[in-house]
Amino acid sequence: MLVRLLLFVVLCIALAWAWRGVQRSRRARRIESHTTETVRCAQCALHVPRSAAIRAEQHWFCTPGHRDQYLESH
Ligand SMILES: [Zn+2]
Repeated sequence: MLVRLLLFVVLCIALAWAWRGVQRSRRARRIESHTTETVRCAQCALHVPRSAAIRAEQHWFCTPGHRDQYLESH
């Protein structure tokens, strides 16, 4: 009986540790996404994260299509 109780306590501690780890990584990801720098698409003026944007001739674009449109008309 005492062994079962001990196992239960150990399981609770393990779950609490795992939960804390998940919460910490979630918070870290939120801070990271919050500080992500955005750039303006030269074609449609949409703001997109720099990591997802496409760069061409000193300009940023949200999609390859907008890059092509911009370069064709400029
Ligand atoms: Zn665009």
